[in-house]
Amino acid sequence: MDARPSILHADLDAFYASVEQLLDPSLRGRPIAVGGGVVLAASYEAKAFGVSGGMAGRIARERCPELVFVRGHFAEYKRLGDRVMEILGTYTPLVERISIDEAFLDVGGSRRLFGDPAQIAALIRTRVREEVGLPISVGAASTKHLAKIASQVAKPDGLVVVDPAFEREFLEPLPVRLVWGVGPATEARLAAAGITTIGQLSRARPELVRGLLGAVHGASLMERAGNRDPRPVRPAGRGRSVGAQSAFPRTAPTEDVLGPVLGHLADRVAGRLRKHERAGRTVTVRVRFTGLRSATRARTLDEAVAGTLALREIAEELVAGLLADHPGERWVTLLAISVSKLEEHRAVQLELPVDGDDPHRMGSPSGAARLAVDRSMDAVRGRFGRAAVGYAAVALSDRTAVPDEFRELAEHDISARRRRSATVRTCCRGGRCTPRTSPCPARASSPPPCRPARPRGRCSRRCRPRPGRSRDRAHPGASR
Ligand SMILES: [Mg+2]
Repeated sequence: MDARPSILHADLDAFYASVEQLLDPSLRGRPIAVGGGVVLAASYEAKAFGVSGGMAGRIARERCPELVFVRGHFAEYKRLGDRVMEILGTYTPLVERISIDEAFLDVGGSRRLFGDPAQIAALIRTRVREEVGLPISVGAASTKHLAKIASQVAKPDGLVVVDPAFEREFLEPLPVRLVWGVGPATEARLAAAGITTIGQLSRARPELVRGLLGAVHGASLMERAGNRDPRPVRPAGRGRSVGAQSAFPRTAPTEDVLGPVLGHLADRVAGRLRKHERAGRTVTVRVRFTGLRSATRARTLDEAVAGTLALREIAEELVAGLLADHPGERWVTLLAISVSKLEEHRAVQLELPVDGDDPHRMGSPSGAARLAVDRSMDAVRGRFGRAAVGYAAVALSDRTAVPDEFRELAEHDISARRRRSATVRTCCRGGRCTPRTSPCPARASSPPPCRPARPRGRCSRRCRPRPGRSRDRAHPGASR
């Protein structure tokens, strides 16, 4: 592995809110939130008041009476996110997009053309600002994990390059929440054990961390805290799975709760499969219980599936079986559906009814009829929007706090992350193995946790702004 800082992590700052401020100049410099009933994203001006993604709109208004709510311009998010990725791609073909607004780049082979990684990062920041009009923070380091942490430290609108000779000095004093995979719940568990910094996590007794977080998850976090991350930058290929998930406060898993949620997830997953002319043979559901315990259940079918109702019914059966195996679990906090073993699916081959009429098979008479309904709905939605038509159980449910367009942008993240972490497995505390937990779709692309805005060119850590580059910060162990 090249020890030089050849990996960049580029991450647009408060992306959705920044786009809104770009589109409407009257919003610039003001605290704004995308959303309404729920804050989907907040500007840095709003974050300074403690407003953050996922927060109820009422609480956000209490914290920031000046807060301006704006509706999302989802097509613009996608267009501008794609434009930024095009710019990144002009510096190296090794661009791994991990969400709508962030990507890793390996610029080790671009030195002769564009300069060292710090120079390339500066070029990227300048071009994104001038050509797209958005602020972007960049971290440069010798590993992906460290580059991502560096970009978080650089925010807002900054650049941090970590000198390989001082990586540990840079990493160890930072809060443990910056480690990839540490969410609020994990952070609280570690804090209860006296672990609040990355250095403390890296030096903690492995038995302690495994006991707190599970064997595999604990071990992988300790690896990252110790700056051991051999993963290369992998340009995205075509997805190997399509999935969606929904997180919620702890809820009793009754049928009237599970049905609409699974119906909504199946609608989103199946719609995306059909949009890309694909179908999949393996359906996997995941249920998360309280205490970060989770379990998965999968079924591989003889025939690929892309129908909404079929996917919903299969998912309901899988979840029912999974819950029956966990009678002690009273609450669920997340449901997810993914479909893998994907195949091209451009046309339906109608079957002779020799094996009966199984509506889960798209070639059967009833399966084909269902698929025709799905495709008619897809056509209507394509013309009039997603809300124009839908299955009653989903359309009439009250799970509309987060717009589907926003969820779909976040689901891009989920697919990308699942591809990336396909070999990372975490042993849940119930003894089963399950893929590593992904964050809630509504939060997956949300800005980082709120913190007071720092004065320009200064930060809460020892910071030495470079002369003439007040946005590019130096930290202990970081340089250009
Ligand atoms: Mg971002």
